[in-house]
Amino acid sequence: MKAVVYHSAKKISVDDVPDAQIESPTDVLVRITATNICGSDLHMYEGRTSLEPGTVIGHENLGEVIEVGRAVTRVKVGDRVCLPFNVSCGFCKNCERGLTGFCLTVNPGTAGGAYGYADMGPYPGGQAELLRVPYGDFNCLRLPPDSVEREADYVMLADIWPTGYHATELADVQPGDSVVIWGAGPVGLMAALSCDVKGASKVMIVDRKPDRLSLAEKVGAIGIDDRKGDPVEQVLELTDGNGADKGCECVGWQAHDSNGQEHNYLSMNGLVKAVRATGAIGVVGVFPPADPKGPDNLAKKGQMAFDFGTYFTKGLRSGTGQANVKAYNRQLRDLIASGRAEPSFIVSHQLPLEKAPEAYQHFDSRDDGWTKVILKP
Ligand code: NAD
Ligand code: ZN
Repeated sequence: MKAVVYHSAKKISVDDVPDAQIESPTDVLVRITATNICGSDLHMYEGRTSLEPGTVIGHENLGEVIEVGRAVTRVKVGDRVCLPFNVSCGFCKNCERGLTGFCLTVNPGTAGGAYGYADMGPYPGGQAELLRVPYGDFNCLRLPPDSVEREADYVMLADIWPTGYHATELADVQPGDSVVIWGAGPVGLMAALSCDVKGASKVMIVDRKPDRLSLAEKVGAIGIDDRKGDPVEQVLELTDGNGADKGCECVGWQAHDSNGQEHNYLSMNGLVKAVRATGAIGVVGVFPPADPKGPDNLAKKGQMAFDFGTYFTKGLRSGTGQANVKAYNRQLRDLIASGRAEPSFIVSHQLPLEKAPEAYQHFDSRDDGWTKVILKP
């Protein structure tokens, strides 16, 4: 089968690799029809993770079931399914509580597994013609018949919308809240959509990319361009000097200043200042436990110069981590099916799988107009 293979920093190619196949009775085999490039893939693409050369990448996958293992009872050949980026068992202590991003079975020694991702277990990715889905009955989200023509909406259920939604859950966003989101990449834009769905009264989103900020306006959010002045001051001005009720971190550790210089504390310290006292912050941007190529000694050890004193004094609280996609994907699917939400508004490109190398290059450079790419194997 054809698949996107990682070789080294900024070197990927579409190669012929052995076909994915059923390996265990609980597996499902899916022919992929849509697979997104994620901001998380870019950390690997830039060589900032310990990803093994030769790994097939891709964790935002949707397709048609073409074979099921003999222990699979619910999912049938011909079903159209979207796969959470988390690989999870469904029966461990964490999965039982809905914390499928921290499954204790699929990646022994740590908590949480994913397709085609550094340190997330031995699961090849889905930027490929075929994908093996472990624990298929648990992991496959079945899709309604309109998933063929509305594929660009439903494929956002693999990761990016549930992750944006998770940020708003960790931040405890309630109807009527004002919310500030750091980062208007796909995750931040999906957090803005989620705030809209939840009935937030005012949503502000900080970035410096005009194409991304103007997409935010499509879901009623106010774009805050941090090149036009201190973003914290801009949020305070929009909230009568109080700060937003809640905050979402959707940038991650590669947050940088206007010169492109990375400072891993920028988004977190911005949020601590821009969220009102006693508010809450949901952190879904990735922060790794170590970053040998980080720009300073703290960053290399996975640490940061965090404004903890202000965080404490304001009585702030926060939640962090990988999204538990299965906790939300069913309900979010039904918002798409009923016409209440169209997460595909962020999609800028739908390209054949063969175009992956150039798509990665453009998306990684955050080139104007490259807001979200779907690859079609
Ligand atoms: P992205 O990297 O394209 O988006 C990040 C955005 O942040 C960009 O638009 C960039 O211009 C902006 N940005 C950079 N520095 C900034 C700063 N100092 N202030 C304001 N904005 C700044 O990709 P994405 O797909 O939106 O992913 C965002 C983060 O979420 C990444 O770290 C990704 O790995 C992570 N992620 C986490 C999960 C999870 O389950 N927790 C899932 C998917 C993605
Ligand atoms: Zn992703």
